[in-house]
Amino acid sequence: MTINQNFNNLQKSYLFANIGKKVCEYSAANPGADIIRLGIGDVTRPLPPAAVAAMHKAVDEMANAETFVGYPTDYGLHFLEDAIAADYARFGVSLELDEIFISDGAKCDTGNIGDIFGVDNIVAVCDPIYPVYVDTNIMAGRRMISLPCTAESDFAPALPSEHADMIYLCSPNNPTGTAMNKVQLQAWVDWANEHGSVLLFDGAYEAFITEDLPRSIYEIPGAKTCAIEFRSFSKTAGFTGVRAAYTIIPKDLKIGNSSVNALWNRRQATKFNGVSYITQRGAEATLTDEGRAQVNETIAYYLNNAKVIREGLQAVGFQVWGGVNSPYIWFQAKDGLGSWELFDLLLNEVQVVGTPGSGFGQAGEGYFRLTGFGTAEKTHEAVARIQKRFGG
Ligand code: PLP
Repeated sequence: MTINQNFNNLQKSYLFANIGKKVCEYSAANPGADIIRLGIGDVTRPLPPAAVAAMHKAVDEMANAETFVGYPTDYGLHFLEDAIAADYARFGVSLELDEIFISDGAKCDTGNIGDIFGVDNIVAVCDPIYPVYVDTNIMAGRRMISLPCTAESDFAPALPSEHADMIYLCSPNNPTGTAMNKVQLQAWVDWANEHGSVLLFDGAYEAFITEDLPRSIYEIPGAKTCAIEFRSFSKTAGFTGVRAAYTIIPKDLKIGNSSVNALWNRRQATKFNGVSYITQRGAEATLTDEGRAQVNETIAYYLNNAKVIREGLQAVGFQVWGGVNSPYIWFQAKDGLGSWELFDLLLNEVQVVGTPGSGFGQAGEGYFRLTGFGTAEKTHEAVARIQKRFGG
C-alpha cells in the first residue's frame, strides 16, 4: 500500500494559519484591541432577497410529493443553464446548454479539471496566484512553469518563452485585483490556438468589472477552440456558504480527436451528483432583473469599500493596483519592508489585518493585499488608521 507521493511535494499551507496565529497572539496580549480584518476573501453581505425568496419556495416544493425533485439528472430541468446562457448572450456570447456545467464551486472545478488532462502536460501558472491551481497540479505530479507578473505590466502575465500545455489565467485577478484587456487576452487566445494549448480562465470576479474590459474569455475571437471558463456565484451573489458555480466547455474545444466537453461530462457524471435543486433555484433568481439589481447593489458596496482603500492608500504615497474592477487592493510596502514585516506593523501599530503578498507566490514578496469585503464603517476606520500611521 502506498500513498500518492506527490502530496509530499506540497508546501505546508502556512498563510492563513500563520495570520490566524499572529492575530490570536496579539488579541491575547492586548485584550479589547479593536482589530479590523481586511484580509478576508469571503463576502459579508447577506444573500440577495430574490435568491432567499426563490430558495424558500424551492424548499416548499421539496416538501410536497407532487413538486419534490431528486437527483438533478432525474428531474431533467435546465432552468439554471438557461439563465446562464441568457446572461452570456447579453455580452454577445452564444452557448449551448450542454456547454454549461453547473457545480458547487469554482475551487472544485479549477482543481478537478486536471482529471481529464494527461499528467505529462506542462502547466503554466502566474506568480502571484490563487494557490489552488498550483497545489492541484502538484498533487497530480505535473511539471509547472511560472509566469512572473510584475508591476511593469500591471501584473498581467507575459506569454511564455517555453511550451506550456495548460495555462491558468485569472481576470479580474486574485490577489492583484488587475484585469486583462481585450488585446492581452487575444494574444493568449492566439498563442494557445497556435500551440495546441488550453487556457483555464478563472472569471470568478467578472461581476466586479466596471471598465470596458472583457467579462468572458469567449468575447475574444478564437477562444472557443482553446479555452475553458470557470465562474462562480460566490463573490457575485454572496453564495460562498450556499455553493454554486459553473464551468463552460465549448464543444469546439478538441484535443486530437477527443472532445474536452465530452470528457468533462463523463468525469462529472461519474464523480459528481449535482448541485441541490434549492441552491440552483436561488442562483437562478440572482440572474433575473430583480436579482441582478440586488446583486449590483451589493457589488457596488464592496467596490466602494475598495475605492476608499485604494484612494486612501494612494493619498499617503502607496503604489496601488486593483480595487476598480475587483474587490482586491494590491499595494507595495514602503521603506523596503517585506510582506510579513508590513503585516506585523499593521497589526501591532494600527490593528489592521491584511494578507501578505508573499503568501500568493515569490513574486508577491514586498506586496500586500487588502479587500473590500469588510463593512463600510470598518473600512473607513482602517484606512484612517493607516493614513495616520503613514501620512506624517
Ligand atoms: N477562483 C478564485 C480566483 C477565487 O479567489 C476563489 C475564491 O476565493 C474561487 C475561485 C473559489 O470560488 P468558489 O467559492 O466558487 O469555490
